[in-house]
Amino acid sequence: MTHRPGQLTRDLAELQQPQGAVHFSTTDNANLWGGFIDGAIESGLREACRVIEELRQR
Ligand SMILES: Cc1cc2nc3c(=O)[nH]c(=O)nc-3n(C[C@H](O)[C@H](O)[C@H](O)COP(=O)(O)OP(=O)(O)OC[C@H]3O[C@@H](n4cnc5c(N)ncnc54)[C@H](O)[C@@H]3O)c2cc1C
Repeated sequence: MTHRPGQLTRDLAELQQPQGAVHFSTTDNANLWGGFIDGAIESGLREACRVIEELRQR
């Protein structure tokens, strides 16, 4: 994973946004360790927490 300078600063928050019921969990949109397994785990935990929170609000 190689980004241009400023690319993550500009786009990361948007790349982490769910689209309806579809959540995007990938090392490519991790806050830390993007491109590594740690980033995949981090984003998986992030989206799992979001899904749990959404289900709780129903
Ligand atoms: C050779 C190599 C060595 C590496 N070594 C290390 C290392 O030592 N340490 C480390 O931390 N990281 C390492 N990495 C990086 C690490 O493997 C990745 O960062 C991590 O696997 C990314 O996880 P992910 O879940 O985001 O994506 P992936 O593991 O790529 O999972 C994406 C999954 O989505 C599936 N998919 C794609 N398109 C579709 C579709 N349209 N419909 C359904 N399924 C789809 C794919 O088949 C795949 O199973 C290495 C990577 C490579 C290639």
